[in-house]
Amino acid sequence: MRPYTWTKGSTPPEDRIRARLAREYGQLDPDACWIWPGAQLGGYGSVITGSRTDGSRRPRLTHVLLWEEINGPTPEGLELHHRCMIELCCNPTHLKPVTHQVNCTLVTEDEKQARRDRLAYARSVQALSRRTM
Ligand SMILES: [Zn+2]
Repeated sequence: MRPYTWTKGSTPPEDRIRARLAREYGQLDPDACWIWPGAQLGGYGSVITGSRTDGSRRPRLTHVLLWEEINGPTPEGLELHHRCMIELCCNPTHLKPVTHQVNCTLVTEDEKQARRDRLAYARSVQALSRRTM
């Protein structure tokens, strides 16, 4: 069962996310970071789920949706940690459920800088592959 309200007959948000990624990058490399190219919420990728009619409409994080599609709802009290340290990445294999405390310990100031460097690098590589497609 989906861990959120979903209007029957509409395209599931996971499918919309994958379609958006495919439009942006073509065939996705299963090991690479899938940098979300769309809307953001608090530094993470986000899409709108639910419906306005029944009041369930709300933004959800893209990395969480793709992870939960495979693994089920995020375990109570845990949050998804980006092992790749790139918050905009929504490759579910790069995520690991950890406690908030562990997540904070893992994400030190040094890591934040390293992450900015890697994001810049990942973006330049993807921009390059787009131009050569
Ligand atoms: Zn990643």
